[in-house]
Amino acid sequence: MRQHDVQELNRILFSALESSLVGTSGHDLINRLYHGTIVNHIMCKECENVSERQEDFLDLTVAVKNLTGLEEALWSMYVEEEFFDAENLYHCGTCDKLVCATKSARLRKLPPFLTISLLRFNFDFAKRERYKETGSYTFPLQIDLKPFCEQSELDDSEYLYDLFSVIIHKGGCYGGHYHVYIKDVDQLGNWQVEEDEPEAVAEATSLKDLPSIQEADNPLMVLKHILSQEENKLIPVDQLGQKLLASIDISWNKKYRKQHGSLLKFLQAHSDVFLVSSNPSKVCLRRDAGPAQSPPAELDQTGPVAPSQGGDPEVCGAESAGEQQVEVSVEGPHWFDINDSQVEPIQEADIEKQFQGKESAYMLFYRKTQLQRPPEAQSNPWYKVPNHLLREVHEANSELQKKRADYDSVVNNLDLHLHLGPCYEFYNGALHPSSSRTEDCMLDLTIDKRKTLGDLRQAIFQLLEFWEGDLVLSVAKLVPAGLHVCHAFEGDELTLHEIEMTDGEDIFVWNGMEVGGVRIPTGDDSIPILLTILQLTNNNVGEKGQSFIERRQVFPSNAKVSTLFTVLAFPVGLVLVNITGSRVLELENWTVIPKENLEQTFKDHGLQDGSSVWILNSNSCDQSLVMPGGRRMNSLSNFNWMQVKNLCQADSEEEQVKVSATIETTLLDIRIKAIKELGLQEELVHNSCLRLIDRNGQLLFPVPEHYTVAEAEMEMGSLLGLCRGKAPTSSQLFLFFTVGSDFESGLMMEIIVESTISVRECLKGMLEKAGLQGDSWHLRKMDWCFEAGEPLSEENASLSELMITSGDTLILSEGKLPPKGFLKVPVWWYRPSAPSGWQENPQNQVNHITHQVEALRTIPEGGDLHGDIPIVVQPEIPFTFMGDVEISEEASVADLKTQAMMLPSFLEFSFPSADFLRAWTMESKRPGRLLRNNQQQLKDYKVGGRTQICVEPLQKAENLGPKDMLLRTQMGIPGERAYYPTVDFVWDIVNECTASSLRQAVAAQYCLPMDSIEIAKYFPDKFEWMPISSWDQQVSKRKKKKKQENLQIAPYYLKDGDIIGVKNLLVDDNKDFSTPRDDIGKENQTKLFVGKRRRRQAVQLQSSDLEADPHVHEKAHRPEAGLSINVGVFR
Ligand SMILES: [Zn+2]
Repeated sequence: MRQHDVQELNRILFSALESSLVGTSGHDLINRLYHGTIVNHIMCKECENVSERQEDFLDLTVAVKNLTGLEEALWSMYVEEEFFDAENLYHCGTCDKLVCATKSARLRKLPPFLTISLLRFNFDFAKRERYKETGSYTFPLQIDLKPFCEQSELDDSEYLYDLFSVIIHKGGCYGGHYHVYIKDVDQLGNWQVEEDEPEAVAEATSLKDLPSIQEADNPLMVLKHILSQEENKLIPVDQLGQKLLASIDISWNKKYRKQHGSLLKFLQAHSDVFLVSSNPSKVCLRRDAGPAQSPPAELDQTGPVAPSQGGDPEVCGAESAGEQQVEVSVEGPHWFDINDSQVEPIQEADIEKQFQGKESAYMLFYRKTQLQRPPEAQSNPWYKVPNHLLREVHEANSELQKKRADYDSVVNNLDLHLHLGPCYEFYNGALHPSSSRTEDCMLDLTIDKRKTLGDLRQAIFQLLEFWEGDLVLSVAKLVPAGLHVCHAFEGDELTLHEIEMTDGEDIFVWNGMEVGGVRIPTGDDSIPILLTILQLTNNNVGEKGQSFIERRQVFPSNAKVSTLFTVLAFPVGLVLVNITGSRVLELENWTVIPKENLEQTFKDHGLQDGSSVWILNSNSCDQSLVMPGGRRMNSLSNFNWMQVKNLCQADSEEEQVKVSATIETTLLDIRIKAIKELGLQEELVHNSCLRLIDRNGQLLFPVPEHYTVAEAEMEMGSLLGLCRGKAPTSSQLFLFFTVGSDFESGLMMEIIVESTISVRECLKGMLEKAGLQGDSWHLRKMDWCFEAGEPLSEENASLSELMITSGDTLILSEGKLPPKGFLKVPVWWYRPSAPSGWQENPQNQVNHITHQVEALRTIPEGGDLHGDIPIVVQPEIPFTFMGDVEISEEASVADLKTQAMMLPSFLEFSFPSADFLRAWTMESKRPGRLLRNNQQQLKDYKVGGRTQICVEPLQKAENLGPKDMLLRTQMGIPGERAYYPTVDFVWDIVNECTASSLRQAVAAQYCLPMDSIEIAKYFPDKFEWMPISSWDQQVSKRKKKKKQENLQIAPYYLKDGDIIGVKNLLVDDNKDFSTPRDDIGKENQTKLFVGKRRRRQAVQLQSSDLEADPHVHEKAHRPEAGLSINVGVFR
């Protein structure tokens, strides 16, 4: 929703009021109050014929630019005449020719209420932008409109208007905030000014007859008061000084001089209050600054008189004096500043602050001075308010009153739960209600927190008539073990708030000594914790899945861990703790408490309610201990076993055994033992190996069998898989490999090779294993982000020389490697959207090369595996594979383009030159960086062995400069969530790359005013649009006074090729940039995410057989982290 200008709002409001009043007695109310007319005259200089045109108004709009104030603006509009002459003659109907003429305008009918809008917003044609006039623009508190009126025969008072309201705009021309000053016409406010100057009180005792003691420190008030007693006589300034001394018993120089300077200076500085005659220095109060007083005639004024301070002679003059003037306080009438829900009192003089600046008057409201409020209205907020409204107000007020009372009680009332000591018993480490009726042990009490602890004690005494002896109130804590008593409340004279008693607090009421004859532990340190104690049953050694005895036991948190053994009557042994309280027996959560730490407390070890403790006999350590779920255990070097799972038979039930071992046991020994224990066939001894299973259930690569557990860097208790196939020897490498670039599908093969073989031999072995033929293959290493990395180009180097180690993954890539120093660059044809006029669609002619296109189609990861994941909708694939270009790293971009044009699939089109092609790198199946400079070498653009290039055909030659940013703009179709075709847009960022300059440039491209467009950058991978508004930038500019943000950095990261959506606000009021395609894209992304998660959860250990084909298992793929790093483009 667009925000309206307040002036616009005013008009809309009027018309809404008018239509709501149709048919009522107030149907013409708006007209009666606000309607005025202006008359325009044009007088022919030759025949003196006057043509006249009358205009109606409800408000007047006046210029601000180059004017000092309202009166000057009205003067230029309604007094000055405009001449038609020379080049600009007027056609007179009577003379029927072009003649010299004068044009003038006058106010004809004045409304009772005159509304004036100030034209503070202007357009700077040089800068082509809106701006706000912030210069000084005065307006009087009272204005005489007579000079601007057509007729002047009425009584002078008919033309006088008083200011009664000012709407103020705070902010710039693109937004801001309004608040309003409204005069307290009926004196409804309570205007006693509170001055926070406490030292004034000391001297206040000596003040005589001063209106308020607080004013003693305000010399202005004191002097005003003294002068007001002088009945308008001018008195010498030194006489005033004496009167001051008499009045406050202290001289000016002693009391005020330091702060305010000499008395005369002070009087002169307050020329709005005092009239000072220069020779000799005499002073009196200004007529308009105090209660009705006329200034003496001989006065010569020293200070200039501002128009707002009674400069109007009609008001200031003694003759028009105050019979009709409302008696007001010394400071003049008061005003309200109404700012959203906040209403503050201001002084009338504060209005002057709104003459200029970023925060300044925007609309003025005057009312006819003659329109006096009747005396009954004075200080009477109910005056003429209809009864039903009064009732409503009354109801709202009592509602408010009630809410206040409720709020007060919510804020101040404490609901306390009193636990009565005599009703409690201490057992199992905590207090428990002794009565079966728990509610008897507890009393609820509500008390105001501003009362003292003594008050509370008294209240409790009254509640418990039977109580004898001491009454101690302690903080009670309800914990799983029961009730625990912490510290006692102290300080009867302190309020409950001060002793930090809180609402809902549990309080133990007791004698402070014992409960039921038992001295109870108190304090925060000894808070009881409820632990789950686990012990192995003794009779199941060697069986699968140990059974446990589980019991709950309460211990004080400050007890030593060793008390476990005493309390449980268990021989001192091993303690494992699980502080997570998780019921899942994940062994990673368990830690051993070393023997030397058993004298520390439970709290020291972080144990809390719900924590589990597992105690073991120290000589049971060689038992094979398996927790339910059978996982390995960290930090348990004492446990001498490994687990082995049989993965040799894919269809058989998975079996698992524990094999005793130490870190010195070799994997071979473990394997042989496991085969025996599993009762497997002898032949497996010669054709199987152990592979570590990681926490995700993934099979890791096997290591040589003569390795000990320590050498293999395995932890005791780990889970190993017994798999078919031999383990590598120490001279061999165990490698994973996959074919092609699309290894997301998870087709991962394994091979064992000697580490000394060459890359070529390795390639051969892998091709054999994969059942592939031909010699147009090469190897690449998988990089850290699970993508095909640099090719292994030195085919004669050995794997060990290339630092390839066991467990690495290699990729069999199609195509022969280019010679050293050369790049093999796949080149794609790219058509962002068919440019109009480009008829020779190459699509049809290159359709035979489709298999590569297939690879590029944006299929979500694993999308082919899951029928419930929809394929991402792409209306068309803008890329077509054209072929590979083999080119030197030293070659230039132009060379690349030229070579691309030589590709067979390109030959069918003729391009005049390489300038008719635009080249991009391809990143994530989208154009990435623009290779803008034809002369630049490919290596400068970091075009390496993995880079793919796409070229875009152009209608005309293009040579982009370093400061030209290439954007693609698309104009929204009004009323639809769609766009017209994308248009290339070269934006010169040599001066600045800011939101406002982009808006300006885009607006110019579409020949629209800058204010009438809205633009947004498209983020295709997120299907999101980010509006580029210069408004936000303006705010930050004003706040921090710093340069406007560069769009190339966060959050826009504007770069070549970005799509900029444009909305023409003149015809399209929908500022939502998204399209139905974005909705689908977002929806699919969500589904994809959910699908992936489901898939991850479903990952299962698959048996693997090294001899069988295909050698498939799912390897841990790239973790899906939403990480993206954007770096600004530096040129
Ligand atoms: Zn004429």
